[in-house]
Amino acid sequence: MTPSSRPAIQPAILAIERSAVALKLAKGLKGRERVAALLDCTAPRQKSALDRGLILVDYALAATAAVSIVQGLLATTASIIIGILFLPLTLFIGDLIGQCTHKWLDSYASEDGFFLGQAAQEFRKHHEYPANLNGVGYLNHIAAFGKVLFLPFLGMALTSWFHSPALGLNLLFLLILLLNATEIHKQAHKSKPDFHGRLLQSTGLFLTFSKHARHHQPPFDSEFAVINGWSQLLTDRFGFWTKMDLFWWKTFGDLPRTWIQDPRAIPQSAIEEFRQDPSKIPHDLLVYSEAYPERRPPAVSLLLENLRAGA
Ligand SMILES: [Zn+2]
Ligand SMILES: [Zn+2]
Repeated sequence: MTPSSRPAIQPAILAIERSAVALKLAKGLKGRERVAALLDCTAPRQKSALDRGLILVDYALAATAAVSIVQGLLATTASIIIGILFLPLTLFIGDLIGQCTHKWLDSYASEDGFFLGQAAQEFRKHHEYPANLNGVGYLNHIAAFGKVLFLPFLGMALTSWFHSPALGLNLLFLLILLLNATEIHKQAHKSKPDFHGRLLQSTGLFLTFSKHARHHQPPFDSEFAVINGWSQLLTDRFGFWTKMDLFWWKTFGDLPRTWIQDPRAIPQSAIEEFRQDPSKIPHDLLVYSEAYPERRPPAVSLLLENLRAGA
């Protein structure tokens, strides 16, 4: 089957469904044709000039704040030492915030949200074809986060840091880390990271592929770190995200998206609830299970067969 002969995909369905259907079709292709079809359904979209321009505005605001911070730091040696001593903690906090944001986008965020809806779609598509980010330009890749971080950068620029330059240094560093988190993640995927990526990966300050690889293996529900992986010890050891998924399901009755992408992660209690009330089964689960039958456990297959038989 050639890409041109692939059936048209309804534009009205959600992007994640569209990518599931297209990925199913791409399975029948080989070589370049297959890569082209995969990129066709998973490559991040071109962001608006406004969104890309906001990143440059963010950096201009960061430079303004940096002038004030450096002036403050140079006034006393103690503030330079304190500022530097707290940088490892800031790297840890940045990694933890990166994990929480990543998990939110992978599992809970709406794909229609104004600020991060598009990012949620792109994070989910990245699971299915991890090489989809390798050719994406810097501004286009981080554009969603430039928009979200605009107000914090503006706040930094409008505040004088003479009285607490060590704190200012760490806050500014944190914002720059968060702005670049997905780019750091992209470096972990490249077979040949850029020079700065390679250097920072070798010192343990940036995420490496070995720390991130398991995130792309079923059930796509661990290793959410995108900066350096330091905070993963905390979350993965205690099964924090698995517990959070259960909490989300029990509280909101909404299936975490990672369960839809891999139904083997759906707990027995949720399957039982679907058995008693099939109307609760989300449409996305049907679409995704058709694209990836190998990820469907027998209990979910039976559930979907019964649903179709009753339809
Ligand atoms: Zn992810
Ligand atoms: Zn990845």
